[in-house]
Amino acid sequence: MTNPQRRPLIAGNWKMNLCLKGSVALVRALADGLSKPFEGPEILVVPPFTALSVVSEALKGSPIQLGGQNLHWEEKGAFTGEISPEHLKDAGCTHVLIGHSERRQYFGETDATVNKRLKAALKAGLVPVVCIGETLAERESQKTYRVLETQTTGALQGLQAADLKTLVIAYEPVWAIGTGKNATPEQAQEVHLFIRKLLAHLSSETIAREVRIIYGGSVKPDNIELLAAQEDIDGALVGGASLSAESFIKIVNGVKKG
Ligand code: PEP
Repeated sequence: MTNPQRRPLIAGNWKMNLCLKGSVALVRALADGLSKPFEGPEILVVPPFTALSVVSEALKGSPIQLGGQNLHWEEKGAFTGEISPEHLKDAGCTHVLIGHSERRQYFGETDATVNKRLKAALKAGLVPVVCIGETLAERESQKTYRVLETQTTGALQGLQAADLKTLVIAYEPVWAIGTGKNATPEQAQEVHLFIRKLLAHLSSETIAREVRIIYGGSVKPDNIELLAAQEDIDGALVGGASLSAESFIKIVNGVKKG
């Protein structure tokens, strides 16, 4: 991360793990384990919905921010099982993940619904972390860039330049999520540069320089330094390794000062 305009972000996606007690214990351990005063990257934890309020309470006074794992695009109404932007804000969230590959794979998420969620998040003043990434089959059939272009263009349809500045893009190759196989720093950098050029094409060079593009897929304490040192990698979205305070703090500390 060499551009001072972009403060690195380390986000921990807890997925469908941890209940209330474990969630509070984890964030307390995280807050206690950070150096003080803390001057590193922006830090975000993304617990299950049921734990958001207690985690928000436990995070008071710490630099760690809170995000939801998804949101619905409507403000309220007859949408059983869904969660609104207002629910997330009410529970203390500042950020929200949108279009995670597990939502795309198992729950019918499409580029069109990602676009609706993204607009709703921006309207509510939440920072969207929009996930894109190719499957192994797509990579092996040389479709990586085509897939990423379709996902990015679809997600950003109809957005204004000011909106683009706020959002974070998470490049998460599906073949690297939860598999222990991470993209090499060079592979990830090449894709991040492609995404940044695409953003410049869709908007402007200035905006593209400001948007944070983080990498996700088997990020661990022993690979974060090289990944985060790449020019267009502005942090990481961490799954498995965010469930241990020790490894998440090592990842946070592996990123150069924000
Ligand atoms: C993720 O869930 O976004 C992720 C990157 O998971 P993992 O770090 O476990 O591969």
